Amino acid sequence: MSDECPFCNRDPFHYVDNGLGMEAVAVTCCELGDEFYRGARPEPETVTMSWEDFHGVGCKISSLRAQLAAQIIIQRGWEDEARKATSQLASARKALEDIRKRIYGPANAQMWDIRQIVDAALPLTDDFRT
Ligand SMILES: [Zn+2]
Repeated sequence: MSDECPFCNRDPFHYVDNGLGMEAVAVTCCELGDEFYRGARPEPETVTMSWEDFHGVGCKISSLRAQLAAQIIIQRGWEDEARKATSQLASARKALEDIRKRIYGPANAQMWDIRQIVDAALPLTDDFRT
């Protein structure tokens, strides 16, 4: 179970093998990560951060928001494409069905006629055999 510090993107914890697995025992990534992952320690009433860290967090939030907006635009584009493709597929299916009817319709009718003729001829053939 590896975590990712929202401030520095590193795994915030230092792990030790407790005999059953790796246990997170300390936050070692960065100062803000240390404040964020309090664990068993008491929560501080206030957190003081440097201007650079504060600015960095703001930039990160802005960047994430822009990424999210871009993803939403891309997703909507894909949904539009999928809708278009589905509609085109339905049209193609209908066109194919029309073609099938046009081609096989007369062929089926001819096969039917041939069958009628063959069926009519069969008793004659049987008569010849007996
Ligand atoms: Zn960190």
